[in-house]
Amino acid sequence: MYRSHTCGELRAASIGEDVTLAGWVQKIRNQGFMIWVDLRDRYGVTQLIFDEERTSSDILKEAEGLGREFVIQVKGKVIERVSKNPQMPTGDIEILVSEFNLLNPSLTPPFTIENETDGGEELRMKYRYLDIRRNPVKENLMFRHKVGMQVRNYLSQQGFLEVETPYLIKSTPEGARDFVVPSRMNEGQFYALPQSPQTFKQLLMVGGMDKYFQIVKCFRDEDLRADRQPEFTQIDCEMAFVEQEDILNVFEGLTKHLLKEIKGVETGNFPRMTHAEAMQKYGNDKPDIRFGMEFGELNKLAQGKGFNVFDQQELIIGIAVPGAAGYTRKEIDALIEWVKRPQIGANGLIWAKYNDDGTLKSSVDKFYSQEDLLGWAQTVGAKVGDLILVMGGDTNTTRVQLSALRMYLATRLGLRDPKVFAPLWVVDFPLLEWDEETKRFHAMHHPFTSPKPEDIELLKTEPAKVRANAYDLVLNGNEIGGGSIRIHDKETQAMMFEYLGFTDQEAKEQFGFLMNAFEYGAPPHGGIAFGFDRLVAILGGQETIRDYIAFPKNNAGRDVMIDAPAKLDDAQLKELHLQVKI
Ligand code: ASP
Repeated sequence: MYRSHTCGELRAASIGEDVTLAGWVQKIRNQGFMIWVDLRDRYGVTQLIFDEERTSSDILKEAEGLGREFVIQVKGKVIERVSKNPQMPTGDIEILVSEFNLLNPSLTPPFTIENETDGGEELRMKYRYLDIRRNPVKENLMFRHKVGMQVRNYLSQQGFLEVETPYLIKSTPEGARDFVVPSRMNEGQFYALPQSPQTFKQLLMVGGMDKYFQIVKCFRDEDLRADRQPEFTQIDCEMAFVEQEDILNVFEGLTKHLLKEIKGVETGNFPRMTHAEAMQKYGNDKPDIRFGMEFGELNKLAQGKGFNVFDQQELIIGIAVPGAAGYTRKEIDALIEWVKRPQIGANGLIWAKYNDDGTLKSSVDKFYSQEDLLGWAQTVGAKVGDLILVMGGDTNTTRVQLSALRMYLATRLGLRDPKVFAPLWVVDFPLLEWDEETKRFHAMHHPFTSPKPEDIELLKTEPAKVRANAYDLVLNGNEIGGGSIRIHDKETQAMMFEYLGFTDQEAKEQFGFLMNAFEYGAPPHGGIAFGFDRLVAILGGQETIRDYIAFPKNNAGRDVMIDAPAKLDDAQLKELHLQVKI
């Protein structure tokens, strides 16, 4: 038996017992006549004591030779500690060691295994197994497990079955590039790793498994952005015989359950907002509604007053920054510079201060009267003491730019409180999205999403206006889930492929299996997928998903620990028919 107890378990009630512990050496304090060792495992830390009087000289010698992170096993008696440590759950006791077994020595770790470590990010990634020994990382992994268990329990109780779907498949078009795997046995042919189990979960519905879920890895070969992982985990779900309302209810239930069980937060019914409204009020399809600062549209009030810049613009919008009327010229200039950076790309900002005496002072006083400016204040919801910031330009760009500014200022003003949870549904997403590069419409969600029946007619005339039965679940400015009601008949699906620019032949080649299945009694169905890594991170109160993944990739998509991706040797390449011909 390697251990009778864990290092986090023993209390005063066990004083006098003989125990066996095993773990890693966290710390050694050698006072010459007495040596204390903190022994650590996943469960905690227990203090060991070796001393000249009570410990045999052999064992004392062993203790003297110990280094950090050595793995040892000890037997001994639980005794009361002379100086107790109320900070430690095991702080009332220590183990007087009588037997010692060195299980494995360790090199000196390249960074300290402490809550606050001296190791930089890359170094910790390279030695991730050491990083995992640190409390913050260990606790995040335990937290992830807890969230996963709550998801599994809740959905199982609701009658969902977890079904695995294959990883070696044919490409699923969800907007990203596929990772591909060459087939050794089929020369020149490739599997693709799933971007999500989308088509398989739909086929499970055809198969009659009317409530499916899976906590599943997905793979997308996208250009890397901060905090994106090429492989990530979804809680993937699908239901048959449902309408949008049913899906929203079930998964609102799951989210409420998680907030309650994990965070102790009770939330009322989630507000719902159409995509159009979200864009209009927040310039963002995943609005953070923990704070206000909603956009006010100022075209009527700001145009035709001789200010040329605004007269030429498609949209003029503003926000009220709470309590910021006192910003200095320098602070405002810094904001203007901030929006002009290439990442945001705005031309500038117009400002108006709503002074304590009720007057307004703006950067465009030449063109606007007090009355005009009061109109602005009213429209953007500014109160005395607020700063009004206004931008103009073409509709979509300006909304996105002002949204970035809104989020930046909210963060700066401390309005994004991680302890507050503000979920909402964004519904009625557009079905299609115009892609400038390819000069074509793409499916905004994916090609299996059903258009709203009342909008189908518009497909021929104004495709951009067609709304989909598609929805996102948004939490604190993050999209944590998204899904749709699916097309379940062959004709509509064929029509969609046609609109998306697939020839008959291409559609058959790529999705023949799905179209065939639709001919054998496919039930109406729909579903949703949650980004599990992000959900865990938000519930955990942090925004980096990497902190919640045991073995994450770095920002360049590399695993620096195992050094992947890597070259293959010639023999392997040849076997895979990948030999580069020179
Ligand atoms: N497969 C979709 C996604 O990964 C989710 C869904 O439509 O259920 O975003």
